[in-house]
Amino acid sequence: MIVSMNKILADAKEGGYAVGCFNSIDLAMARGIIRAAEEEKMPVILCHAEVHLKYTTLESVMPILLGEAERAKVPVALLLDHGKDFEVVIQSMHLGMNAVMFDGSELPYEENVQKTAETVRIAHALDVSVEGEIGRVVRPANGGAEGNDDSSLADDTSLYTDPDEAAEFVKKTDVDALACAFGTVHGVYRKEPKLDLNRLKDIAAKTNVPIVMHGGSGLSAEDFRLAVKNGVSKINYYTNLALYVGQEIKRQINECDEPFYHNITVWAQQAIYEDTRKAIRLFASR
Ligand SMILES: [Zn+2]
Repeated sequence: MIVSMNKILADAKEGGYAVGCFNSIDLAMARGIIRAAEEEKMPVILCHAEVHLKYTTLESVMPILLGEAERAKVPVALLLDHGKDFEVVIQSMHLGMNAVMFDGSELPYEENVQKTAETVRIAHALDVSVEGEIGRVVRPANGGAEGNDDSSLADDTSLYTDPDEAAEFVKKTDVDALACAFGTVHGVYRKEPKLDLNRLKDIAAKTNVPIVMHGGSGLSAEDFRLAVKNGVSKINYYTNLALYVGQEIKRQINECDEPFYHNITVWAQQAIYEDTRKAIRLFASR
C-alpha cells in the first residue's frame, strides 16, 4: 500500500529503527525490493534518482513503481531521489511521487534555503513529503555513484553538516526530513569510513526531524547500528546493491551454457531481493 513518507519516517523515529530507501530503475528492482520488505514485514521507500533518468524516464518508471507499491502488503513511499532540476521535481509529483528530495547541497546556503522552501511550499500543497540536504555527502569520481567529486573531498570535514545551521535550515524551509553529511560518501568507499556520531546526535537533537543517511554502501553492521542509534531514520542504499546484482548475473551467465534474456531478469530480481532483505534487516536492528 502507498503511505506517505512522513508517516513511515515518524513511525521509524518513534520506534528507533531506520527505513531503507532503494533506487528502483526498473520492474526487477521494484519487485525484488518489495518482496524483501514484505518478507521482513517492514515499510520501504522506493526511489528513482534524477541521475538515473538517462536509464529510465519518469514517464516509464512511475506506472511500474505505483503499481508495485499499491499491491504491496507493507507501507511503501515513492521518492524522487536527489532532485535538482525544478521541472523534474514538479513532474515527479505530477506523475505520482508522494515524496521528493530537493538536493540543494551544492548551492550557497541562502540559495539552498530559498529553493528548498519553494519546493516545500508546492509539495505540501499536494500532500507530498520533502527531504532536504544541508552539508554535502560527496560523490568521488572513482566511486561508481555518477559523481565527479575529487576523492580527497571525502575527508573534508568542512562539508559536514553544522548542527546549528541544520536547525535553522529546517525552521526556514519546513522540510520533513533532512539528509546530513557526517562522514559517509556516495559510491564505493576507497578507504575505511569514519562516522562523526557526536555531530549526528547533535543534528538529530537540534532539528527534531527524521535524519537521512546517504552513502550507506560499504559501512559495517556496527556503523549502521550506531547511525540508527544516534538518530538516523532513513538510509539510502544503492551502490553495493547494484554491484552485487551485476556480479551475481555475471556468475550465473558463466555457469549457464545458454543464458536467455528472461533468465537474466529472474536472476536479477532474486539477487536484488537477497541483498535488499539483508539491508532492511540490518537497518531495523537495534
Ligand atoms: Zn544520495
